[in-house]
Amino acid sequence: KAKGKKVAKGATKEIKQHAVLGAGIMGGGIAYQGAVKGITTIMKDINQAALDLGLKEASSILEKGMQRGKVDAKKMASTLNKIIPTLDQNAIANADLIIEAVVENPKVKAAVLAETEKTVADDAIICSNTSTISINQLAKSLEKPERFCGMHFFNPVHKMPLVEIIRGENTSDATISAVVASTLKMGKTPIVVNDCPGFLVNRVLFPYFAGFSQLLIDGADFTAVDKVMEKVFGWPMGPAFLLDVVGMDTADHASSVMSDGIPERMQKIDNDPVTLLYKAGRFGQKNGKGFYDFS
Ligand code: NAD
Repeated sequence: KAKGKKVAKGATKEIKQHAVLGAGIMGGGIAYQGAVKGITTIMKDINQAALDLGLKEASSILEKGMQRGKVDAKKMASTLNKIIPTLDQNAIANADLIIEAVVENPKVKAAVLAETEKTVADDAIICSNTSTISINQLAKSLEKPERFCGMHFFNPVHKMPLVEIIRGENTSDATISAVVASTLKMGKTPIVVNDCPGFLVNRVLFPYFAGFSQLLIDGADFTAVDKVMEKVFGWPMGPAFLLDVVGMDTADHASSVMSDGIPERMQKIDNDPVTLLYKAGRFGQKNGKGFYDFS
């Protein structure tokens, strides 16, 4: 366990090293975003294949940047060198800011957060990238909930400017200031929101997904809905394509958390097409098949 350093009262803790827990769609993207802004980032997973994919994703973003003349070979090498993949929990011991981005499952997250607190310094800040799970609920797995908040990035991380910083009832002002400063250092736009199911963006987005599911149950064709929302209404993508980007597993877990948390606003849907696709193993872009086929 690393030793904690004292931070002067009123000063914002300086964050020098990040750790990202989970190297999936989000963890890989968050690791890339820190690294490209010069921050050494330990990327921890329990699965070597996920670490390899996380690094591959970072390389492919940089390669596209090179093709457009925005990144040179030196920047590519220095960014990749700043991402340190590991399966070893002890490798995160010196991180100042730990961003948990493992599967959207409250039990798994609680276990990962509790283990993390035992590994890192007493003054390290711990955040969760959860899409919907209550920050107050997750905070219960920590001995020092004042150093914990939500830090919710959006997918794809390198393109989406917004980060929701979710203040739990015990989160300290110092933690919020440090996470706001880190978000800005990562080139992103922070907003601070209170804890509630779905926070701000998913509070709007998931009822929209639920409306889409109801439409499919009523007999609509998903390609037709996407076409209308994208080509005619003018959104960058329709709901089926967006669900494929988000991942059916994540969307299904998140919908359940929302309908459990605010049942009066988001009812559970019987035979929700999103749940059926998830159960059929069609997770979306992450495994090449969801509403659409990507292979
Ligand atoms: P994902 O399935 O792509 O990745 C999850 C990763 O966590 C996997 O690589 C898995 O091996 C790893 N993992 C599981 N248990 C672990 C453990 N104990 N320690 C370390 N790693 C572990 O999922 P994702 O889409 O990247 O989502 C991750 C989190 O981010 C979820 O909480 C999700 O709700 C949230 N989120 C997702 C999106 C999205 O659009 N996919 C957007 C914002 C937030």
